Amino acid sequence: MGTKFTKTICPYCGTGCGLIIKVEDGVAVATYPDSEHPVSRGSLCIKGWSAHEFIHHPDRLTSPLLRKGDAFQEIPWDEAIPMAAGKLRETAAKYGGDAVGGLSSAKCTNEENYLFQKLMRMAFKTNNVDHCARLCHAPTTVAMAQTLGSGAMTNSISDLAGADCILVIGSNTAESHPVIMGEIYKAIDGGATLIVVDPRKTAVVQNAKIHLPINPGTDIPLLCGMMKHIIDEGLYDKDFVKARMEGFEELNEFISAWTVEKASGECGINPELIKLVAETYAKAKESAIVYCMGITQHACGTANVLAICDLAMLCGHVGKEYSGIYPLRGQNNVQGACDMGALPNVYPGYQSVSDPAIRDKFQKAWGVELSDKPGLTVTEIIGSAGKDTRTVYIMAENPALSDPDVNHVLESLKALDFLIVHDIFLTETAKFAHLVFPGTCFAEKSGTFTNTERRFQLLRKAVDPPGNAKEDFTILCLLGSALGLDFSYNHPGEVMEEIASLTPAYGGIRFDRLERGGLQWPCPDSDHPGTQYLHKDRFTRGRGLFVIPEHTPPKELPDDDYPYYLSTGRMFAHYHTGTMTRRSPFLNREAEKAYAEINPEDAIHLDVKDGEKIKITTRRGSIITTARITKRVSKGCIFAPFHFTEARANMLTNPVLDPLSKIPEFKVCAANVKKESQDD
Ligand code: SF4
Repeated sequence: MGTKFTKTICPYCGTGCGLIIKVEDGVAVATYPDSEHPVSRGSLCIKGWSAHEFIHHPDRLTSPLLRKGDAFQEIPWDEAIPMAAGKLRETAAKYGGDAVGGLSSAKCTNEENYLFQKLMRMAFKTNNVDHCARLCHAPTTVAMAQTLGSGAMTNSISDLAGADCILVIGSNTAESHPVIMGEIYKAIDGGATLIVVDPRKTAVVQNAKIHLPINPGTDIPLLCGMMKHIIDEGLYDKDFVKARMEGFEELNEFISAWTVEKASGECGINPELIKLVAETYAKAKESAIVYCMGITQHACGTANVLAICDLAMLCGHVGKEYSGIYPLRGQNNVQGACDMGALPNVYPGYQSVSDPAIRDKFQKAWGVELSDKPGLTVTEIIGSAGKDTRTVYIMAENPALSDPDVNHVLESLKALDFLIVHDIFLTETAKFAHLVFPGTCFAEKSGTFTNTERRFQLLRKAVDPPGNAKEDFTILCLLGSALGLDFSYNHPGEVMEEIASLTPAYGGIRFDRLERGGLQWPCPDSDHPGTQYLHKDRFTRGRGLFVIPEHTPPKELPDDDYPYYLSTGRMFAHYHTGTMTRRSPFLNREAEKAYAEINPEDAIHLDVKDGEKIKITTRRGSIITTARITKRVSKGCIFAPFHFTEARANMLTNPVLDPLSKIPEFKVCAANVKKESQDD
């Protein structure tokens, strides 16, 4: 078979770096950076360099599995597919189509996400389809659509290198998106000022000129205090506001109450420092705001993003090169899964299921009647399991580790009449399934991913799937056909042509146009070169809209019983629920076991030494983990990464939701910490 090299896309974060897989005799043996890739340009982080390591892992699923008591039994595909179709049909016939729920996947391709939502909507007349964007950037989609008209990164990753001022707020870019951090380093080398707002002293802070370690959950007071100072000093872009914005009077009235002194009282930052940061951001010729889950994963996540949009629009730092708003998407294709309509309220391209004209277009194209009722979100599907929701199909998602209040999630999975899980490993969630489909990883299939800067990119098959595992595209086509749908696609490229025909913003996307570097949407026709930055002369919604960002404190604050702030998040060596990275020897060597960060003063108070076991307890559960004593966290704060199954941080997190986007408040809850006497 010999040696071959295949260009494809990294399976981990939303940066979407280009990588080259070396295959020897059918086995992926190494990964190299792609120097011709327009985003990563020859860079990869530690996860990208190790991306081949899990592909041939012995834990890979190689056959459909059927539950028999507490064990699984291998069954052939020609039993598995009819069984899945039969159980789904049975549920819909007995309880109605809305008793079926589907979780699509930010790890799967655009074409697979398109087929998944189409299958759910066509076969069961339900919009109960969602995916893990609900847990990361749902507030971005809601708030940016409201203010600018488009819920996506306004600019391109490479624009960051040309910025004069970069405000990083609620993003540990250096660990979660290291190649994007490289663009920030370039900007700093060119003289840019880096300002970091984060309760933790993350790796990003090491390169910052100013660090604002705000109290957890006080982003809105800080941003409003900045806007008040900018308006008072006449530093806002009056021409931009007059020519392109609406709602300034209402915003100004609201902001007038947010003096820097009041903001300081809430966020804990010196008023003079708030003024300095406000002036630096407003006066710079090109200012950019980079944010991530530190902003979105709050019960006021949508209002947090509204405040960011308001600040950027107030200063005219949007609609041009090198400035803009940069929500950093977590998973490799979370942008694409949203774009493809794996959401309960929209078809592909964010076209509303409730709009009669839009629904009519999809009904005609798909040849069936569709529901006009928005469906349930991830947390609602899981929360209603065994009640309104009876059968669930989960494609490459792992709520048993990723969702808040995991004990409740596990009870919900057990309560289902039938659970179908489609994945590459027997995940924590798959262990609860009645039927398991063995799917394919990024290196075993073709299709497209869309990265965080709206870039459609080609994924190319490098190796064959293991055993009897099938390409996810094929599994969806087989299941769709078994359900009586016309899913006779021969290749993902045909699916892309259908997507383009139904979605104006992707009208010019074709596989043959993506061969060299991909295309950024909007790309409405076959001659369009793609769009580097949005909102150039007009916002997608016409005029930009200032929307009032009401501040609500975190729903659970420290008290006598639970005296610590607990925050959860990611670390550099692992990705999401660790399904792939924890099977990579190289990445495991970097971070082999679960830990929680604790401040040295708290460690003295608790009589805990570095490496000793601690027990963290919240109102929802307890975990035992290893203490990592560090000044990265402030006194009174604990940070726990959520990747580790042996100490599931999401046993602890608060499932309270942001009412607008329905994202849970992962970033703040109240916890108790005690030394655990038993060592390893
Ligand atoms: Fe992969 Fe993200 Fe690392 Fe790039 S930055 S190599 S996309 S994990």
